[in-house]
Amino acid sequence: MQALKQYDGKYWKNLFDSRVGKTTWPYGSGVWSKKEWVLPEIDSDDIVSAFEGNSNLFWAERYGKEYLKMSDLWVKHCGISHTGSFKDLGMTVLVSQVNRLKKMNKPVVGVGCASTGDTSAALSAYCAAAGIPSIVFLPANKISIAQLVQPIANGAFVLSLDTDFDGCMQLIREVTSELPIYLANSLNSLRLEGQKTAAIEILQQFDWEVPDWVIVPGGNLGNIYAFYKGFNMCKELGLVDRLPRLVCAQAANANPLYLYYKSGWKDFKPVRANTTFASAIQIGDPVSIDRAVYALKNCDGIVEEATEEELMDAMAQADSTGMFICPHTGVALTALNKLRNSGVIGKTDRTVVVSTAHGLKFTQSKTDYHSKDIKDMACRLANPPVSVKADFGSVMDVLQKYLLSKVPKY
Ligand SMILES: *Cc1c(COP(=O)(O)O)cnc(C)c1O
Repeated sequence: MQALKQYDGKYWKNLFDSRVGKTTWPYGSGVWSKKEWVLPEIDSDDIVSAFEGNSNLFWAERYGKEYLKMSDLWVKHCGISHTGSFKDLGMTVLVSQVNRLKKMNKPVVGVGCASTGDTSAALSAYCAAAGIPSIVFLPANKISIAQLVQPIANGAFVLSLDTDFDGCMQLIREVTSELPIYLANSLNSLRLEGQKTAAIEILQQFDWEVPDWVIVPGGNLGNIYAFYKGFNMCKELGLVDRLPRLVCAQAANANPLYLYYKSGWKDFKPVRANTTFASAIQIGDPVSIDRAVYALKNCDGIVEEATEEELMDAMAQADSTGMFICPHTGVALTALNKLRNSGVIGKTDRTVVVSTAHGLKFTQSKTDYHSKDIKDMACRLANPPVSVKADFGSVMDVLQKYLLSKVPKY
C-alpha cells in the first residue's frame, strides 16, 4: 500500500480506465488490468489468463420493479466467464504464480484443490492452458454433472471421495504438506487478490460512484473478504471516498456465519452442512471465517440466510425477468428481498447483487423445479412445457387460452 500511495486516486482511475476493452497482453483481462494492485512483480510473459473479468453489470430493471419495488438494482454477472464462475478471477493469479515458480525451478509438480465444483473447473482450465498437472478432490455425488465434467474434460486428475467438502478440504491439506503439490484453495491469498478486482470493476462500471449495498453469497467466505478488500483499497488509495455496506448471504442449510452474526459475534461454531441446491456454498467450517468477520465489521455489514424454497423461488423469479442465474445468486436475491421487506435497504438505494456462477451449470435444479419434482416444495413459479397433439385445432385451442390469460379481452 505504501508503494501504491505514491500515486493519487486520479492516476489509478485513468490507468485502469485506459485499459478497458483493449487486447494488449495482459491488460485485456479484468484482473490483469489492475496488475499493479494484484501481483505487480510478475513478468507479463508468465501470466496465464483467459481474459477473465470485465463481466456484465446488468441493470435488473424489471426484477427490481416487479418483485422488490426498487429502481436501482444491478446484478454483477461474474459467472459470465471462461469456466462459468467468478473462481476464474482468482485462479488466473494463482496459476500464473505457479507458472512463474516452475520457471524459477521451484519444487512444484502440480496444483491441487478441494472443491464444491467451480474451483476445480477453474483450476483445471487454467492449469491445462499452461500445461501444469492439476489434481482435484471432489465430494462424491455432491456437485452438478456440468461442474464434474469440466475438470474431466480439461484433463485434471479427479479423485471422487466419499465425504463432504469439509472432508475433502481436510485431506488435501494433509496431502499437500507431504507432496510437491501446490494448494489452490482460497486460504491461499493469491486467489483473493484476483477476486477483489470484481469490486474495483463495479466501481469502475459506475464511473467510480460507490453503490450503497453489495450482496455476496458466501460459503468458504473468501469472496466476501475479497470484495471488502477491493472496495477498501479504492478508498485507501483515493479512488472513492466511502465503502458500500456488504451483505453476506448464506443458505440456511449451511449457515455458520449467519448463526455467528445472530449471536452478536459471540460464539463461532462450525456446523454440519446439509444438502442445498446452492451446492457451491454447502460448507459448514469456512476457512476464511476470520477474514469475513473482519470485513463485515469494518463496513457495517449484515448476514442473511435463505431456505431452499426461498432461494429456488427467487431464482425462478429472476429467470422469468430475463436472467438465467445460479442457485447461489438466488440466495443473494433472497437476502435482498428480506432486507427490502424489513426496510433496511431502501427503495432508491443503489444495490448490487453478485451473481457467482452461470445458470447453465445448474440446469438440473432448474429442471427439477419447473417439473415440480422437488420434495416438500410447492415450486410456485414452475413453467413446465405443455404437451399438445400435433394438429391445427389443438394448437389453436391452447394458444387462444394462453393469449386470453395474458390479455383478458383479447
Ligand atoms: C465458490 C462459490 C461461492 C462461495 O464463495 P466463497 O469464497 O467460498 O464464500 C459462491 N457461489 C459460487 C457459484 C461459487 O462457486
